[in-house]
Amino acid sequence: MSMKFRTLYIASLFLCLAPLPLQAQEATRMNNEGVEAFNQGEYSRAITLLEEAHALDQSSEAIRRNLCNAYQKKAELLAGDREFNLAVQILRKATKVDPKNISPLVQMGSYYLSQDRVSDAIDALENAIAITPGNLNAHELLGQAYYEDNDLYSARVQWDYVLALEPDRAGLQKRYDKAFREESVEQEFNRWKANHFTISYPRECPARLRSAITSILERAYLDVGRALGGSYPPSPVQVVLYTFEQFSEATRMEGHVGAVYDGKIRSPLTDADGEWIAEEELKRRLVHEYVHVIVRQIVGDKIPWWLNEGLAETLSKSLNAREIEQLRSIYEGDVALSLAAMESTQMEQRGPDELRRAYLQAHATVDMLWNRYGRNKMLAFMRGLSRGDSPEEVFQSVYRRNYAACEAEVAARYLY
Ligand SMILES: [Zn+2]
Repeated sequence: MSMKFRTLYIASLFLCLAPLPLQAQEATRMNNEGVEAFNQGEYSRAITLLEEAHALDQSSEAIRRNLCNAYQKKAELLAGDREFNLAVQILRKATKVDPKNISPLVQMGSYYLSQDRVSDAIDALENAIAITPGNLNAHELLGQAYYEDNDLYSARVQWDYVLALEPDRAGLQKRYDKAFREESVEQEFNRWKANHFTISYPRECPARLRSAITSILERAYLDVGRALGGSYPPSPVQVVLYTFEQFSEATRMEGHVGAVYDGKIRSPLTDADGEWIAEEELKRRLVHEYVHVIVRQIVGDKIPWWLNEGLAETLSKSLNAREIEQLRSIYEGDVALSLAAMESTQMEQRGPDELRRAYLQAHATVDMLWNRYGRNKMLAFMRGLSRGDSPEEVFQSVYRRNYAACEAEVAARYLY
């Protein structure tokens, strides 16, 4: 299972200049042409013109601001294509041109968060707030960065500040409540650091289980990273482990949910009867959630539900005989869902039986695509999706068939 919420920062307004006298006239002319190019959506040309204007007249605040805005707009477009590294490079130029303006720093912080570069995000946002305290976007994002770093106290300070000034801020109260429901469950937890994971766990968790979990996660880091074309997270992944009761208290998830990734991997260690979950089962759940970490890194949030869950299932376990039998009865009984119907994360709202069937179908579909058409096509599909095109169009251009043909191909594997 996977969930993700994030506020994206969007760049701002544009100024037009009145003509200036003397040697600045040429700069003004370039500036005005730059503004025109910007307004026509020709951002690269706008940047060239405004850079020239700025070189001619470095004293003009308005030219600085215009150039900064043009950089920010260009960065926003790059980020839309998940070209975050290029976007950040351009924003660095923006901060040099207009150092008193914190807006490019805030934007940079938001892109670092999208890349899970949490400590870089904290640096950029703290820097922005040091220049101009009180920008609510900056404080909210800094709170998010601390939260992702599992520094809940610092997150609370930032979010309290924002909510005091703007109690109705979109979505924040909900995230605040979620974070502090988690905090109340997790405050007595211990924490240990593995190579690529920071793991919080209830004190009663036995040492042998901790070392088994470390091996499972570090192994997943290598195996899943390699399977998905050499993808590794830039910062340690936060993992929070609970007892069965703590898990439902912290996440408000129902009993049928085995584990979740919501920016942190969360999993119970015990079952409803209070027994420690067997290592094999724990491994399946943790690897499943870790696949979500890497898939999000490659595709972002624009991933169809069936692909996200299908990859997580395919890379964490094989279909067993009972599941193959269930798939046969799904396809024989003609109760299969279409891939289009399984694109939205609203799938998770369905009843447990229907959801279980959808997971099986997602697994069967990705299993077929992965084994019959290979990893490279899957990676091409994922990269196409990251650009935000419609999933079926990307699917068709990579696999040379539409959803209906793929559905029939999957069904045929289970029908005799
Ligand atoms: Zn999942």
